Amino acid sequence: MSVPPLPSFAPVPRGFSWSATRHGAFTDCPRAYFYGYYLAKGRADGADLERARLAARLAALTSLPMWVGSRVHDAIEGLLREALGGGPAEVEPAIERMVARMRRDYAASRDGDQLVADDPRSVARFAEHEYPHLAARDEDWRTRVGEAQEMVRAFAAQGYLDAARALPREAQASVERLEKFALDGVDVWVKIDFAWRDGQGLVHIVDWKTGKQERGENPLQMLVYAGYARKVWKAEPERLRVREVYLRQPDPERPCTITAETIGAAEEAIRASIGAMLAKVSDRALHRACEADFELAASARPCRGCFFRAICPAPRDAGGP
Ligand code: SF4
Repeated sequence: MSVPPLPSFAPVPRGFSWSATRHGAFTDCPRAYFYGYYLAKGRADGADLERARLAARLAALTSLPMWVGSRVHDAIEGLLREALGGGPAEVEPAIERMVARMRRDYAASRDGDQLVADDPRSVARFAEHEYPHLAARDEDWRTRVGEAQEMVRAFAAQGYLDAARALPREAQASVERLEKFALDGVDVWVKIDFAWRDGQGLVHIVDWKTGKQERGENPLQMLVYAGYARKVWKAEPERLRVREVYLRQPDPERPCTITAETIGAAEEAIRASIGAMLAKVSDRALHRACEADFELAASARPCRGCFFRAICPAPRDAGGP
């Protein structure tokens, strides 16, 4: 009789889950992670309501680079969905819609609409408007909008849109779908930009990148996607083609090395990350945590652009609020 493996994390709080984004937040600054994942969600020991509300509002901020990334992703998602559905998927009209949306976001943020919104996540608010030391010049906004337009054009020139148009229904294409799989009893969330199975049975996974800085070989996020495809789509590593596509680079494709070993190493990294996060949760039964258990950033690097400076007792750099 086979004995099922014991979960590595006992007990795991109800509602706890892991994602590469969560891991990045925890790694950058445990205290900022506490503000975003506990205080903002009303799961902090001894926190007053007003501070929790402020944390929720700050957690919903965006920044110029994040905003550009999310608007470009939205435009690409819309084009891919249209192409997969047999629609015209015209690039320039999609860019016009994106720019109109960016103008609305900018105006709402500048006018402070989020400060009075019932749901702070429903209205754009930039850290560049929240914190004077991050204020951007008019030309910076214009430059970023121009870059967003160029990135959508770069995407269209790479052939993925044509590939989507040609895919048959059995290709099981997936665009920006939020999915999860279980690792030792913990839900691991993934949101893959674009994936499909080709006529040879190879599964392609593509992640668009809108930043200038590259992440090096085999980033954890991509290996997590591969692990998901292996578990849920039953795609063996040798049949996976996983790549990042840097939309601002002339040579944009960065293929990842996917083997049973690299996927296994990623799962070990996830286990270590989950263990480190859970070690700080003082009340596992109620999934509540204590601010003092989450240390401040080890270096000043994340502090300058941190969304939580207004509630952090010790932002590290000069020029804060
Ligand atoms: S200001 Fe710095 S130390 Fe404070 S929460 Fe943000 S990143 Fe962490």
